[in-house]
Amino acid sequence: MRIGIDLGGTKIEAVVLSDAGEILFRKRVPTPKGDYPGTIAAVAGLVREAEKEVGETCTVGMGIPGTLSPVTGLVKNANSVWLNNQHFDKDLSEELEREVRITNDANCLAVSEATDGAGAGKQLVFAAILGTGCGAGVAINGRVLNGRNGVAGEWGHNPLPWQNDEERLQAAENPCFCGNEGCNESFISGTGLCFDYFRHTGEKITGAEISERAGNGDKEAEAAIQRFEQRVAKALSMIVNILDPDVIVLGGGASNMDRLYKNVPPLMAQYVVGREFDTEIKKAVHGDSSGVRGAAWLWPQED
Ligand SMILES: [Zn+2]
Repeated sequence: MRIGIDLGGTKIEAVVLSDAGEILFRKRVPTPKGDYPGTIAAVAGLVREAEKEVGETCTVGMGIPGTLSPVTGLVKNANSVWLNNQHFDKDLSEELEREVRITNDANCLAVSEATDGAGAGKQLVFAAILGTGCGAGVAINGRVLNGRNGVAGEWGHNPLPWQNDEERLQAAENPCFCGNEGCNESFISGTGLCFDYFRHTGEKITGAEISERAGNGDKEAEAAIQRFEQRVAKALSMIVNILDPDVIVLGGGASNMDRLYKNVPPLMAQYVVGREFDTEIKKAVHGDSSGVRGAAWLWPQED
């Protein structure tokens, strides 16, 4: 059996998955913020408790909000900043006396959906999280593509392609935290949608509220969502022109807007080279569980 751990900024969740993908154990504990040894101890404690419950030693995989640098072996880009510059995988492997596999949480979504979700049976799965921010992961035959620099799939911080005049203005008004302007994340995240609505209306409301107002026929909200859909199509078309995945899976809060799956695909052909687009864009099947499930599946059956 396999243990999957999702390390978030506020909670650490662990599950035990059977070979059939059934959850046999699940527990959440608060994340010891700012405390690296405490974080190791909390993860190790969850693993020991899970193994006691199921009565066997398991493989351990973990998703983190950052990545391991292939150059230094240290965590980088984690918003749980106390993990940065630590040998997290090595320290945890020593503590648990086995190899622990760690990857980015968006990669976990890709692996989860490629294994037994919306991308099951597909060779190349591109999975994007459109949440507070915007991240993505690539799974090939169910395995994570980490990449030479450990940043494969980090398309949230590519520039939004084919920007019109309004988008160029918006990019300058709202620089990305990464230090660049006009990143996909500045447009096709919940935060980006709110900013777009704000600059047109002067009103600050949540992405869910904008979506709800659009559903009730509000013109400004409808226009904001249509711009959002057009931008999702632009950003995903660039992925198709590079990777041409077998399926595109969306997770995160914005993925709950069902209209995306109807409205975005017809917008894609104008940006995809050759003007043909026949790829399914699907909602993630496992929702909030994709992090823990994908972490567990970092150890596929053939390993
Ligand atoms: Zn950025």
